[in-house]
Amino acid sequence: ATAPAALSLHDVRAGYEETMVLHGVSLTVPKGAVVALLGANGAGKSTLLRTAAGLNRVQAGGIELLGEDISRLPAHRRTERGLCFVPEGRGIFRSLTVRENLALQAAPRDRATAIERAVEAFPALSGRLDQTAGTLSGGQQQMLAMSQALLRDPAVVLVDEASLGLAPVIVDEVFAFLEGLAARGVALLIVDQFAQRVLHIATHAYVLRRGRIGYDGEPGELLQGDIFASYIGA
Ligand code: ATP
Repeated sequence: ATAPAALSLHDVRAGYEETMVLHGVSLTVPKGAVVALLGANGAGKSTLLRTAAGLNRVQAGGIELLGEDISRLPAHRRTERGLCFVPEGRGIFRSLTVRENLALQAAPRDRATAIERAVEAFPALSGRLDQTAGTLSGGQQQMLAMSQALLRDPAVVLVDEASLGLAPVIVDEVFAFLEGLAARGVALLIVDQFAQRVLHIATHAYVLRRGRIGYDGEPGELLQGDIFASYIGA
């Protein structure tokens, strides 16, 4: 048998109270792969990540993490099993300090080393451990949000719009961090407004179109010609 994927969705239907957003989506993130998830506004990218993370209920279909069905598990159980979600808007606690945020992100047994590891990866946080997270710059907040990916040794990280609202030089840092995670064998599923940049680091690409997969293939193919525009445009 082939090794299980880090994450796979099988014909997933999900959405909100009255609105179905995902109409049967199948997608695979192989171990160690970098997968780009593109699509126009409202296509359902955030909903897909939220559903994989356990924040939206799966109404039909299934989700597997490392070959095990996690469709019915609450979000925190998925985190314990190796799934890390960095939500749009960062998802940090703004009224808590950097130190307190890191303590909450780390698995209980790793609290002692959490600060050290985060500061090593993001030196900018070092002098700010007792600062309230809400007073950090946008870039520093994003670094803090992403440090959970270091503190939990996840199998897969779902990244929603990490570069939103950041200065270009900080966007470079965000992508460098993601590439570093990938180099360590962490699988990534990335949604980002800078589609070209994601495609350059991706090993596979999907385009969502109104809640369905419209493209499933090579990132390089999407970067060429008009395919890209035709998928993103509609
Ligand atoms: P964007 O880049 O604009 O965030 P997206 O591809 O991530 O787009 P989603 O945010 O997943 O798309 O939204 C998909 C659909 O679900 C949209 O029609 C949106 O209006 C709807 N939607 C999103 N969040 C909610 C919610 N909390 N309640 C009801 N409908 C929602």
